[in-house]
Amino acid sequence: MPRRFLVTGGAGFVGSHLVAALLAQGAEVVVLDNLSTGHRAAVLPGARLVVGGLEDEATVQAVLADGPWHAVFHFAALSLVGDSMRDPIGYLAANVGNGLRLIAACVRAGVPRVVLSSTAALFGDSGSAAITEDAAIAPGSPYGDSKWMLERALAWAGRIHGLRSASLRYFNAAGADPEGRLGEDHRPETHLVPLAIDAMLGRRDELAVFGTDYPTPDGTCIRDYIHVTDLAEAHLAALARLDHASVTYNLGTATGHSVLDVLHSVARVSGRTVPHRLAPRRPGDLARLVASPARIMHDTGWAPRHAALDDIVATALRWRSAHPAGYGA
Ligand code: UDP
Repeated sequence: MPRRFLVTGGAGFVGSHLVAALLAQGAEVVVLDNLSTGHRAAVLPGARLVVGGLEDEATVQAVLADGPWHAVFHFAALSLVGDSMRDPIGYLAANVGNGLRLIAACVRAGVPRVVLSSTAALFGDSGSAAITEDAAIAPGSPYGDSKWMLERALAWAGRIHGLRSASLRYFNAAGADPEGRLGEDHRPETHLVPLAIDAMLGRRDELAVFGTDYPTPDGTCIRDYIHVTDLAEAHLAALARLDHASVTYNLGTATGHSVLDVLHSVARVSGRTVPHRLAPRRPGDLARLVASPARIMHDTGWAPRHAALDDIVATALRWRSAHPAGYGA
């Protein structure tokens, strides 16, 4: 019998790529998404989409009643650091409230495994060291803290109810499905790779480089960009580990790239420069966030297959070129 999975937020950027990876394994997939930021067209035809929100307990219970589930993947969340600084309590109420409701419902429904989309934003400034899972937790935003609170809730659900969970701390997800079916379409878009591509394509104004006085070699922020397909595969690797124990993994490539490195990559891949201007720092940005993915690599053998920045940019460029309006209206 095929394994059955529930994916909240499966119409979003990372969630839709995980759905693709599950379908490729022959799994049955149900997506629960309120389409507030996700897209109907991002749910591949093999999956069933239930349009609904996690704020509604009855919806969550009704969907979970349709098991048995091998696991629940929880992606659905508000995910903008800047917005969370403007509306801290609203962000905590939504992300923590919805997450707790889902976890409680999973416990009641006897779901054995939960995989949580967590974030590098729960770490503080680590200087130049690659960030391991044991680095100090010091969320710089309500968004980062909301994920940390859910990690803690899952730890308690494990200790008391035996729920196995994987907390997966994403660094910078980017790129697009190498088969060209899925891509990144946030509205408004705030992420560097799609913004740089759109500026290069002349689809929007020049890119503002946020901050040039950071203590990094070229003065711009350094991030660890991980291909969204590699990220999806890491979820499957982590899932398999849950047969042994609950896990926490940092998901990145161990390589940092500055904002200017990304602009140079877009120029290399496209043959066209990215119009840009130097701008002040964006509040809340840390100088450097680079993962140590050593733990998941050691435990599972997972390794990024598209670690080269130019590969990440090339797949993103292909999707955005082919989809000028993203997933459409
Ligand atoms: N960035 C930038 N200009 C933009 C958007 C982002 O310079 O228009 C920088 C941002 O300051 C950060 C990096 O690009 O250093 C990645 O930002 P993004 O929003 O993509 O991801 P984050 O690291 O905030 O999760």
